[in-house]
Amino acid sequence: MLPTAVFTEPNTGSDLASLKTRAVRDGDVYKITGQKTWITHPVRADLMTVLTRTNPAEPGYRGLSMFLAEKPRGTDGNPFPAPGMSGGEIEVLGYRGMKEYEISFDGFEVPAGALLGGEEGQGFKQLMQTFESARVQTAARAVGVAQSAMDLALRYASERQQFGKPIVNFPRVSDKIAMMAAETMIARQLTYFAARKKDGGHRCDLEAGMAKLLAARVAWAAADSALQIHGGNGFALEYQISRVLCDARILNIFEGAAEIQAQVIARRLLEVRN
Ligand SMILES: Cc1cc2nc3c(=O)[nH]c(=O)nc-3n(C[C@H](O)[C@H](O)[C@H](O)COP(=O)(O)OP(=O)(O)OC[C@H]3O[C@@H](n4cnc5c(N)ncnc54)[C@H](O)[C@@H]3O)c2cc1C
Repeated sequence: MLPTAVFTEPNTGSDLASLKTRAVRDGDVYKITGQKTWITHPVRADLMTVLTRTNPAEPGYRGLSMFLAEKPRGTDGNPFPAPGMSGGEIEVLGYRGMKEYEISFDGFEVPAGALLGGEEGQGFKQLMQTFESARVQTAARAVGVAQSAMDLALRYASERQQFGKPIVNFPRVSDKIAMMAAETMIARQLTYFAARKKDGGHRCDLEAGMAKLLAARVAWAAADSALQIHGGNGFALEYQISRVLCDARILNIFEGAAEIQAQVIARRLLEVRN
């Protein structure tokens, strides 16, 4: 069973507590109406975690509820073969292994039993509980992207010859690779540290936030340096590093943008001080 997370809206990204999509109880179903966007691989997903507002009198996070809404699998030609659900693909710069869609719900029905936890108003709390692991796994993905950039840089620098020798012999090239290796190691160890805390059942929003913030930056820096080492070839689509650069860019945005991670970290530091 493939799941997909349905939270973001056109006017609501970082500030999810203010989202507008409504779920209205009607007998033994809820009817969902509203716009969602940036939803990853929803076409082939079987189950959506949809964050909605069940209490319009409560405009903040307390009015939100999460649904585990089943949907039929679609195809490229007919992406959303379900009544009350439609949408279109968003063309993107990179990370094309994940397909992004905007989705409109217009009275899309879910059984009342699909309300997560069986109680309205718990949606935001439930979402927050998933954020720690989501950030640890995004940090891990960033470590993978950084490692991939480093591997490509090392290979290219060992093979490419200029001035009669492999370019890896020039200190300004090898220094870049050394820095990639050191930064990737730091990001990897910090990510393991956060993951171990999570596995141990401890609060780890600080560590997960740090891991995600740092690893995403390291991935971007590594991809940038690796492309530089490829010279003009790095700018050609046929060289893998051009794809890695585009893939690296998104890591600082989804699963909580870098600025939001910095905010989480700063808040925790202030808590510790006060
Ligand atoms: C490829 C991709 C896949 C995605 N997959 C999913 C998915 O599967 N499901 C889903 O629900 N969403 C998904 N998203 C959405 C993603 O989570 C949001 O893009 C992200 O949370 C940022 O929201 P936003 O784009 O609305 O930016 P905004 O919230 O509008 O932010 C714009 C800028 O302002 C900054 N900013 C905002 N608030 C603050 C603040 N308080 N302090 C400092 N700076 C701030 C941000 O950091 C950012 O730099 C995906 C996005 C992309 C691009």
